[in-house]
Amino acid sequence: MGNDGGTIAKRQDILSLHNSKSTFTSFAEDKGESKEQILLQSCALSGLPLYKNNPIVGDFKGKLYIKEKILQYILDCKLDKLKIQLQFQHLKSLKDLRTVKITWDVINDIAHFQCPVTKELDNKTSYSYLRSCGCVMSYRLLKELKKSLKAGDTGDQIEANCPVCNQEFTFDYDLVIINPSNKSDYSEFNEENYKYLKNVLHLSHAKEPLKKKRKKSEGDDADEDKDDLIRKRKIDIDDGLEVEKRIRT
Ligand SMILES: [Zn+2]
Repeated sequence: MGNDGGTIAKRQDILSLHNSKSTFTSFAEDKGESKEQILLQSCALSGLPLYKNNPIVGDFKGKLYIKEKILQYILDCKLDKLKIQLQFQHLKSLKDLRTVKITWDVINDIAHFQCPVTKELDNKTSYSYLRSCGCVMSYRLLKELKKSLKAGDTGDQIEANCPVCNQEFTFDYDLVIINPSNKSDYSEFNEENYKYLKNVLHLSHAKEPLKKKRKKSEGDDADEDKDDLIRKRKIDIDDGLEVEKRIRT
């Protein structure tokens, strides 16, 4: 999975974290935290710890931010286009952000992500959140839930209830894998689901209606997009690796 783009972005993330917020990073490093965990626990824009900096928001790429910081960034970019940063250029308004609910467990002075259902900590699993309710939980938990539901379901879109708050959601397009270090299979998964949400359902990441594009051949294009996406989704996307293989071949 050696994705060059991903590696570069990861390096930049870590470097900026080191340069600007060395206090939190070095403290966490001293406590034995891995780079991956530190990135997960930090705002993707400011590098500040997410813990006790509520509200926290997430984007469709699986990056988490301190809401205040990312809103300030969006505002700054509206006033001065030169401030737009490549990795955040998809963030233009609140419609591109979803408030998320993280469960924390403080161990040895470090606040860790904890899955409210499986109780796994952030060194044991990848995390995901649901676009519908914003609950953050173990990605493995949702993968297993999907597998168990799929047995009795023939359709592509599987309805389920959030294991944390019980609100209804739909696999896969409500599922965002939190991806602090740009893993390419997670990136593909999140992009695919967002494309479906945007092009087929005409919804923003925060599930608000999008304004329709004024295009001459809109009908034809939209149908084509839709067919293409539905065809793509027919192939099982349980496993991010499969998505990656498919795209590469
Ligand atoms: Zn929920």
